[in-house]
Amino acid sequence: MALDTTDSDVITHDDVTTHYRTCPLCEATCGLQITMKGDTVQRIRGDRDDVFSKGFICPKGSTLKQLHEDPDRLRRPLIRRGDHPATATWEEVTWDEAFAEIDRRLTAITAEHGRDAVAIYLGNPNAHNLSGFFYGRPLLKALGSRNIFSASTVDQMPKHVSCGLLFGSGDTIPVPDLDRTDHLLMLGANPVESNGSLCTAPDFPGRLTAIRERGGRVVVVDPRRTKTADLADEHVAIRPGTDAMLLLAMAHVLLRDDLADLGALAPHVSGLDELGAAISAFTPEAVSPATGIPVATIERLAAELAAAPTAAVYGRIGTSTAAFGTLASWAVDVLNILTGNLDRPGGAMFPLGAHQNERTPGPGRGFRTGRHASRVGGHPEVRSELPVAVLAEEIETPGEGQVRALITVAGNPALSTPNSDRLDAALGTLDLLVSVDIYRNETSRHAHVILPPPSPLAKSHYDVAFSTLSIRNVANWSEPIVDAEGPYEHEILARLALIASGMGADADPAIIDDLVLTTLLDRAVTSTSSPLHGAEPAALRSQITGDTAVDRIVDVMVRTGEYGDKFGHVPDGLSLAKLQANPHGIDLGPLQSRVPAAITTPSGTIELTPEPILGDLPRLEAALDVAATADLLLVGRRHVRSNNSWMHNMRVLVKGKPRCTLQVSPQDAARLGLTDGGTAKVTSRVGSLIAPVEVTDAIMTGVVSLPHGWGHDRPGTDMAVAEEFAGVNSNVLTDEAVLDPLSGTSALTAIPVDVVAA
Ligand code: SF4
Repeated sequence: MALDTTDSDVITHDDVTTHYRTCPLCEATCGLQITMKGDTVQRIRGDRDDVFSKGFICPKGSTLKQLHEDPDRLRRPLIRRGDHPATATWEEVTWDEAFAEIDRRLTAITAEHGRDAVAIYLGNPNAHNLSGFFYGRPLLKALGSRNIFSASTVDQMPKHVSCGLLFGSGDTIPVPDLDRTDHLLMLGANPVESNGSLCTAPDFPGRLTAIRERGGRVVVVDPRRTKTADLADEHVAIRPGTDAMLLLAMAHVLLRDDLADLGALAPHVSGLDELGAAISAFTPEAVSPATGIPVATIERLAAELAAAPTAAVYGRIGTSTAAFGTLASWAVDVLNILTGNLDRPGGAMFPLGAHQNERTPGPGRGFRTGRHASRVGGHPEVRSELPVAVLAEEIETPGEGQVRALITVAGNPALSTPNSDRLDAALGTLDLLVSVDIYRNETSRHAHVILPPPSPLAKSHYDVAFSTLSIRNVANWSEPIVDAEGPYEHEILARLALIASGMGADADPAIIDDLVLTTLLDRAVTSTSSPLHGAEPAALRSQITGDTAVDRIVDVMVRTGEYGDKFGHVPDGLSLAKLQANPHGIDLGPLQSRVPAAITTPSGTIELTPEPILGDLPRLEAALDVAATADLLLVGRRHVRSNNSWMHNMRVLVKGKPRCTLQVSPQDAARLGLTDGGTAKVTSRVGSLIAPVEVTDAIMTGVVSLPHGWGHDRPGTDMAVAEEFAGVNSNVLTDEAVLDPLSGTSALTAIPVDVVAA
């Protein structure tokens, strides 16, 4: 028996091989150790030698084996024969036949109705996937449509907008420096279940525990006493949708009591003088009735934040998917700034991924929205996207620019967007729906053509997005460990881009590969601060390594990045080859202070009181009275065994105690005549459903909760396990008319509902 322990990520032991990969399922980026016997996955567990996750893994990580082997996972393209998903038959076709069908239909639609007649929806997994990351943009350019939608407007878009306005770029997002902070205040975040969001930190629960073990303090603000709250020093129950009010009242206290101290950040901040007047309405006394939090508690939370040696405020989905999502996201960083905690160790810091470059300090172009608007409702674009909440009306409403075709890439908007019954019906009226998806799910059941990408284990992986949101600077590369059953996902997206650009179904996808590489190389040789400035792109191109196009793109990005080898100019620098030789990842150290270089506003300063924010504050002030009188409000919730809608076909994740329940407080249950284990009818402005009741004192009175991503009972899907554990779709209740106007993000929390026993 030979045991080969080279630096490669493959350790062989006869036909048993051990591989190391990063889990691509969520933002935590855990290292996995995968044992294979031949082509079969034997076992997946946490990689104890991973430089970042050190062996941590959640229950989902090991189910990459079940996902890979799932008989319902599509391996070949499908064309639907028949008009209705419930009665249609699905024909397996060759890839050439599938692309020819798309070319025939799509080209006719754009020829007759123009480019805006074709919309696209990009789902959340694109952020976890090199192909989606690098080839999504060429596809969007080729489509040339204004009707671009994504999961961002049912998730994190408010943070992009608030950071864009404060710091100059929507991608300049500070993360809590978890491993060094003395005080962490979290709102609307449940990382013990989610494993972190807009904050990449494998073993988030362990890192929270470590804060307390070193004498620090963790405070959780949430309408539910979540598992994260159970780990904290203090849980503060808050009325849903009022986070922005609480945060601004805390800012008010800091200014009122002379507790604000910007420290080293002060020379780099503008707008401080305007802040006090702008938020003067949000006194603790005015905010307390709306939030349900006593005045003394608000004042104490502010004082404790100011007094902590270092502190970070972190707000996530509950602050974001709310009617005041951008104001709340802004207020989170206002507190970080006022307490001098932004950009200092132990505070909220800006990561620098291996593929990124530090810039020379100075003014930038800044951030703006509204360069165009949605056709029907007039909603402004944000980061070139329109709110997904308006997709249904754009499909339904006749006229020039009406959406008649849709391409979905790794997305399930029929489940994940508000008033989903309306969108579900609209999807059935499209002239063409193309779904790039591994399942025939609630959305792709409406597709005319489904194009399945290969198993995650067949793809190489490097976290482009999450290394820019990571609490340590880390680089990690994963090799594919099985053969792809069909074309790689980047080839699928490239062929769609070529069809959309009019080059036809037979055009060579290498055209798009070349376009992406050329763009990257041109950028590298024109950057005056780079040692590659003036170099000949062809000379660099000859040095690029990598088996596939996306591998070669990563090589260029890493080599030209901050820690890169600059194609030989920095001998010890990073390259794809170096990442490949370090299968447990490369630790690039703790986060470093990056202000002022990271700031790209037109003034070159952190603009504390941007005009769009000031313009939206009166809306929040007007809501103070409304929030105080609201009756019963619906909120969502996460579970560690769920991954939005798409991992519910893994029996090992969905079996056991039913998790798609309506959580109700004992007081509300008694008032409404509900019993634990019984059923309730929940009705909102847009829809109703019947759900099993779970009575729990973990939720505050006046609030009920349903998890999202369920409701797998639609005819025409092909996910046997998910159908068996169908649950109910909470987005039947969420209201597409309630949006955060600055970001176009749907309010998926604080939905007024009526609940009766059923
Ligand atoms: S926490 Fe996220 S990255 Fe880690 S194993 Fe679970 S799903 Fe994968």
